[in-house]
Order: sequence, then C-alpha cells, then structure tokens
Amino acid sequence: MSAILIRNGRVIDPANKRDEVVDLAIIDGRIAQRSEVSRLRQAKASQGSQKSEIEEIDAKGLIVAPGLIDMHVHLREPGFSHKETIESGARAAAAGGFTTIVCMPNTSPVADSPATITWVNDRAADTACVNVLPTGAVSKNLAGEELASIGSLAEAGVVAITDDGHCIQNHELMRRAVEYARMVGMPVLDHCQDYNLVGNGVVNEGYWSTLLGLPGWPAAGEEAIVMRNILLAELCDHYIHCQHVSAAGSVRLIREARARGIKISGEVCPHHIALTDEAIQNFDTNYKMNPPLRSQRDVDAILEGIADGTLSILASDHAPHAGFEKEVEFDAAPFGIVGLETELGLFLDLLVHKHRKIDIVRLIEMYTVEPAKLLKLDAGTLSAGAKADVTLIDPDLEWRVKIDKFESASRNSPFDGWKLRGRAVRTIVGGETVWKS
Ligand SMILES: [Zn+2]
Repeated sequence: MSAILIRNGRVIDPANKRDEVVDLAIIDGRIAQRSEVSRLRQAKASQGSQKSEIEEIDAKGLIVAPGLIDMHVHLREPGFSHKETIESGARAAAAGGFTTIVCMPNTSPVADSPATITWVNDRAADTACVNVLPTGAVSKNLAGEELASIGSLAEAGVVAITDDGHCIQNHELMRRAVEYARMVGMPVLDHCQDYNLVGNGVVNEGYWSTLLGLPGWPAAGEEAIVMRNILLAELCDHYIHCQHVSAAGSVRLIREARARGIKISGEVCPHHIALTDEAIQNFDTNYKMNPPLRSQRDVDAILEGIADGTLSILASDHAPHAGFEKEVEFDAAPFGIVGLETELGLFLDLLVHKHRKIDIVRLIEMYTVEPAKLLKLDAGTLSAGAKADVTLIDPDLEWRVKIDKFESASRNSPFDGWKLRGRAVRTIVGGETVWKS
C-alpha cells in the first residue's frame, strides 16, 4: 500500500460543493474515503520517527484542488518537436498545476486518423507525466473540404473534434460534423474565424492596426462564426464550444443563446484579458496571436462574461514556437504564445485578486468541473475513489515569470518578468508528485 496524507489544506472540490479545511488522503493512487483519514493519521502517529510508508504533505495555507484540466494545448508532436514534444509539454503542464491536458490535432501528420491518435496515445503513455487526451480533426488534413472519419476517431479515443488553427467555412460541412459528433457523443470545438472577413489580418482591426499599418482582423470575423455556431448548435441540438473568445460581440451572442438553452459554450485565454492591442506597438511578435489581442472594450466584455457565467472555461491555447520562427517581421511570424506555466498565475492574479470578477472556487470549477462535463472526462473531482489527480495552490504567493526557467521547450511568452500573485506549488497525478516548487 502507498499512502499520502495531505494535512490542513483548504480542500476545494466544486464537483461535491466542498470547501473546508481538512486532511485529504490518497491510497494507492486514489482519493481515500474520509473514514480512512483518521486511520492514516493514527498509523502515522504510532510509527513515530521510524521510517513511515505514509507520506505526509503539510498543506497549511494552501488550497487542495482537483487536478486542473487545460482543454486547449498544442503539443507539436508528431512533426514539430523542435517547438515542443509531448514530454516537454506535459512537464510544462505539471509545472503550471495541470494534471490533464487536451491536445489539438494540427500536427504533422494531422491527427485526422486513428493511426495518428494511437501514436499520440502511445507516445503520451511512454513519455508524459500528466494525462494527455487527444482531439481529432473535423476535416481531412484540416482542409475544410471533406470530413475526417469521425466515428473511427471516436473509437480511437479522442475526446472532441476540432480543426483548431483553421475554421470550416462551409456551413453545410460544419452541420454534418456536428451531427456526426452528436452520434458519437462528443462536442465540436471551433476556432471561430471567417476567412473572407479576416483576409490577411494579423492584428485587431482598429486604432492600432491603422496607426501601425498592419492588416486588421476585425472582431466581426469571429462574431460571424460564433453566430453560425449558435445556429448550428440549435439546429442539431448539440454542443459546439467556441475556443479562445476574444470579442465583445461574441460574448453578447453566447450570453443570449445560453439564456435560450442552446448548447453553446465559450473559453477564455489569459492573454485576451491581460493585454490589449496597444501592446503591439513595439512590433514584438510575442504579442501576435490568433485571434488577436483586442480593445479594452472587448477585455471588459470578456471579464463580464466570466463573471456572469457566459464564458465557462479557462484554457491557455499553449502554442509553442521556436525563437528563430518568432524572430521575423510581424506579418511573417507565426501566431501564438506558450501559456501552460503562466495561465493559472495570470487568472488568479487578474480574475480573483485584481478585478475580483470570480472567487477562487469558481476559478477552480472553470478549470475542472466545466471542461470535465463538456468532454465527459472521468476527472476534475476529489470524490472518494477518484483517480488521485490533485493540484496544491498557494493563492497568495507572489512570484515573477522567468521564461528561461520554463519546462516548455519554447520561450515565446509576452509575460517574462511579470509579477503575479498565486500559483501551483505541487502537482500530483495518480498519487505521484510529478512537480513541486
Ligand atoms: Zn485556435
């Protein structure tokens, strides 16, 4: 038997409406019954100073949360292991407090067939220190022309389908994808971008794009596809999840649709609330992402959307790129930043401490119960018998982001040097500590 006793932490388990200072026990990789806790305490006490089988963790002043889930991560393997591997991405996740990550299919080859999904699953089993759950492509080679074999992807074990990085423009093809997804019981995740409206846009269309002479990416280019997705979610009576929502209009549309019971949801990435398009004036490509940084008005609308539950999921859109790829002209640089090791700190600092939009219980719920429900995952809870995926968080710890200390293989972050309040201090997967500060 292996046992861990986590002492005197504030256990927050939104799935069970639990929030109390109490000891939590893990036995053989599973969360133990509450009755086991006192038995372990006694056993530990009677062993005295002898070497004990029971590991004790002092969690005084810490939050003991279900292992956090990030449902939007690019791991770059197979095909782009110079940016990130499944192993390095998983280590970055552990360092950020994540025990489960969901990876996107825009690899090479594209994850549009059971063969690639099996390869990713095998690679993760061999090398990853956290749970890695793959998604499959909606369309073959992410080309938006022909559906991938969604049934066989489901059988191979994907948790959702998405063309993330791309967006299916043909509404009829998207409708069929949603209908297939309903048949196999998984959601469609969509990167909302109307190609005609966006054209070659690289930054938010507005004051700064005009001033700097960079091609604009209008908010309407996102909102048009969010609207399309609402119509299809209603038509097919099935779940469509809008990834990385960036625009005020998208929040308004999703709010109205959810009030009518439509199966639509939206996710927020930290950069879309931490920064505005004002940041692009130095032409630093670490501020180039897709969708782009937007205006203060959009940031305010997203914060309201988080506060009232319209936007229910937090994620990173962790998008590693090598230095030589980002160190080019703004127009030519790839989109995206790494996020796994900064997202919890940014969200705690901004949402809980600075803007007071949600409390920490809701923040944990948005990282556990909400994604677990959408993706039907057996994760995100501290129920007795559950796999012991646990994140210990110091909500008040002040720390500084240092990109040269990242576990990720890439360094493309605009947050280097930022001082944040709150971070994960220990990450436990299946009863094993995979990372601690
Ligand atoms: Zn995307």
